[in-house]
Amino acid sequence: MRREAPHLLDQTYPDLLSRFPGESYRARQVCTWVFKRRAGAFEDMSDLPQDVRTDLEGRFSLFKLTPFDIERSRVDRTVKIIWKTAEGLSFASVILPRENYQSICVSTQVGCKWGCRFCASGTVPFKRNLSSGEILDQVLQSEKLLGQKVRNVLFMGMGEPLANAAETVKAAGWMTAPEGLGIRPSRIVLSTTGIAPAIRRIAEEGLKVNLALSLHAANDELRKTIMPRSARFPIPEVLEACKFYQARSGAELTIEYILLGGVNDGLEHAEELIRVLKSARFARMPKVNLIPYNPVNGLPYREPSRKSAGRFFEFLAGKKWNVHTRRPQGQDLQAACGQLA
Ligand code: SF4
Repeated sequence: MRREAPHLLDQTYPDLLSRFPGESYRARQVCTWVFKRRAGAFEDMSDLPQDVRTDLEGRFSLFKLTPFDIERSRVDRTVKIIWKTAEGLSFASVILPRENYQSICVSTQVGCKWGCRFCASGTVPFKRNLSSGEILDQVLQSEKLLGQKVRNVLFMGMGEPLANAAETVKAAGWMTAPEGLGIRPSRIVLSTTGIAPAIRRIAEEGLKVNLALSLHAANDELRKTIMPRSARFPIPEVLEACKFYQARSGAELTIEYILLGGVNDGLEHAEELIRVLKSARFARMPKVNLIPYNPVNGLPYREPSRKSAGRFFEFLAGKKWNVHTRRPQGQDLQAACGQLA
């Protein structure tokens, strides 16, 4: 199988249609083979004429990633798949298998430039953006490897998706398109550290998937110490961009808040969080996800105590806020939130 040529799904559906002028049914046939019948090679696409198959084979790859290792948690059901790109770079996806389906946390970059100080991915030097096809490859191949359909996609793996917005949006387009995976936009979450102009741009481009904002601090000074690069965008500007996205897309917004022991987990921080979110005057108040920190060797943070995490939760719940605490999954694989390297 050729892995040097561009991935077929680095194109959009309109790009694919334009390859078959006057024969749009050919593009639909290709999509059926890729997404429904799961062809392993262009040669398998038996209802396409031989010259079309040969032409596609000469121009594109159907898969660009090779599964290099599959690790399974001994504690819960989390699976980590380590991929190799065509040029030998490695990165991971995290799978959360359920009874009849899987949720997958996909990566959008190899390494990350954003350097959030609590995050293992931020310690991995940035190599390059993943293409739309490579992002989709993680979903398509994971379904095959684990024998379960993907129902939920979380853009929460390695990388800042909005630092690779064009490929992320293209991949999300294939995920939701009827010609593609046909996943409901409400089952896809794009997580960002808050690149305000990019949030506005994806709203204008018509993206409809749910958005998760990694806020982690309710004032800019503290946020700068935790995530210095993202904190270049002041919190009010980021929240305004999220409101704009909410209004344009009609999608749900979640505020992600990692509880770092002794740093941002005090009652005063909970009060400030409520104050800041209220002052943003969202049309629909966002849900808050609290994430007790998953420790990473060599990084200067620790888990919150059970008491402080509980108090933080109770404070928000007491204010009638829609708040959840995320249960850690895949910690023993270093695959929990913020641990992927
Ligand atoms: S939290 Fe996201 S943006 Fe920040 S370093 Fe980790 S992967 Fe990069």
